[in-house]
Amino acid sequence: MRSVVWLKRDLRLHDHAPLSRAAEGECLLLYVIEPALRAAADFDDAHALFINQSLRELAPRVQALGGRLAIAQGEVIEVLERLRAAWSFDHLYSHEETGNDLSYQRDRAVGAWCQRSQVQWEEFPQHGVFRPLRDRDGWAARWRKRMNQPITPAPQALRSPAVSLPFAISHEALSEAPHPLRQRGGENLAREILDEFLDHRGEQYATQMSSPVTAYDACSRLSAHLAWGNISMREIFQRSEARAAEIRAQKPRPPYWLKSLAAHGKRLRWHCHFIQKLEDQPSLEWENMHRAMDGLREDEFDEDRFEAWKAGQTGYPMVDACMRALRETKWINFRMRAMLVSFASYHLWLDWRRTAPWLAKQFLDYEPGIHYSQFQMQSGTTGINTLRIYSPAKQVLDQDPEGTFIHRWCPELAGLRGKQLANPESAGDQRPKAYPLPIVDHVTATREARSRIMQLRTTQQARAESQAVLKKHGSRKRSGRKPGAARARG
Ligand SMILES: Cc1cc2nc3c(=O)[nH]c(=O)nc-3n(C[C@H](O)[C@H](O)[C@H](O)COP(=O)(O)OP(=O)(O)OC[C@H]3O[C@@H](n4cnc5c(N)ncnc54)[C@H](O)[C@@H]3O)c2cc1C
Repeated sequence: MRSVVWLKRDLRLHDHAPLSRAAEGECLLLYVIEPALRAAADFDDAHALFINQSLRELAPRVQALGGRLAIAQGEVIEVLERLRAAWSFDHLYSHEETGNDLSYQRDRAVGAWCQRSQVQWEEFPQHGVFRPLRDRDGWAARWRKRMNQPITPAPQALRSPAVSLPFAISHEALSEAPHPLRQRGGENLAREILDEFLDHRGEQYATQMSSPVTAYDACSRLSAHLAWGNISMREIFQRSEARAAEIRAQKPRPPYWLKSLAAHGKRLRWHCHFIQKLEDQPSLEWENMHRAMDGLREDEFDEDRFEAWKAGQTGYPMVDACMRALRETKWINFRMRAMLVSFASYHLWLDWRRTAPWLAKQFLDYEPGIHYSQFQMQSGTTGINTLRIYSPAKQVLDQDPEGTFIHRWCPELAGLRGKQLANPESAGDQRPKAYPLPIVDHVTATREARSRIMQLRTTQQARAESQAVLKKHGSRKRSGRKPGAARARG
């Protein structure tokens, strides 16, 4: 057997089923830098850097096992053709990918090429995402079963052909200049981050995940490593379960750990739950989940508002601080992501189809399945979720009343705290002149947004469609809720 292991978002050696299958015979590992994917609106240089860092760590480790990691630039089929001319492989192994439409269409083309070329392509599941799936009944139990399957150890040796490859790029030539405030890629780092999260950082996770003051340390920070596959979901799940068992056995039991590990475990499942939505309906990248929402915002896109939101110049301190922090660090916690999107979609009435790809570029952990499903949920276009319209002023009072985080990213607000920081206009003469006035009025904008969405959601036809959406995508754990319910959120 002569096989190629096509690496995509799975840049690791451990728990890598395609690699261990290929290691049974002669194999070559291949990573392709694809110009079409890199030119897409959702790809960023920061993603490329993280990938480079991961490849620079992986290549010498593959070499130490006796194998070869070839890095090529070009569209995948062209690279496979050229590779086949140099070395006639008969198998292609990879992980299943639930990516954007470009990667989906690319995979279909690769499937057709393999058939034409008599190459057998086998794909292995990477997360707790199932192909194909008719509905969500029994999904959570299947997810748990998959997460409990044994971890595939890293191969102990690899055997690669010594042929010369016309396209190979040396891993040492990949630029990897680290940015001091951004996470670096690599399998070793991913495991270190998991170790320290389970050892000490995660203790207060449940209570500290929502504030940007504490979240940078208290959250696991595993998302970018998961998105580019430096570590498997199964490994994180099993290590977390083992840690919970250890805590349960301790006497006296430490007070916070179990709650935090339970909250974290729930989110690991959400990771796959959200990716499953895009897997089942690829059009979620460009179409409203609930079609009654079509026409809601498309024709009213205001470029000036978009620019102010992107620049962190909306006049709402928490929105601006989060956006500025995100652009610099390429990470922000869940609550603040939800608030940023809620502000864009409800206050500024911007269509998510323009804001989502732009924000995808800012997230180092960009994972299309989570991203588009969450974006639609926070924009009110799923029709099955409670409308959550965040008040950015309330978020200041709840999450950063002293301005610890906000002052760092909006130094012009350094003199304000508490209610004045939440609403700088209320500071009267003390209001910093360098900071913009609020771009919209919170009460008027959100009242209008809620009323326009609820008008569409409450028609009989919309309610019927909500039931269909719920059957296809809804979590069975929450199916008792009435679709169409609305609730304002702080
Ligand atoms: C609009 C929007 C877009 C988002 N886009 C992405 C994205 O592109 N990639 C991404 O990984 N996450 C995304 N999230 C979810 C969440 O914000 C991040 O997973 C989390 O902030 C990552 O930090 P962490 O690894 O420290 O997470 P932790 O809180 O430590 O959670 C551990 C893991 O659980 C998963 N997870 C956590 N929260 C969620 C959630 N709400 N939904 C689904 N999975 C979750 C992630 O894989 C995460 O790494 C998005 C959320 C919103 C509101």
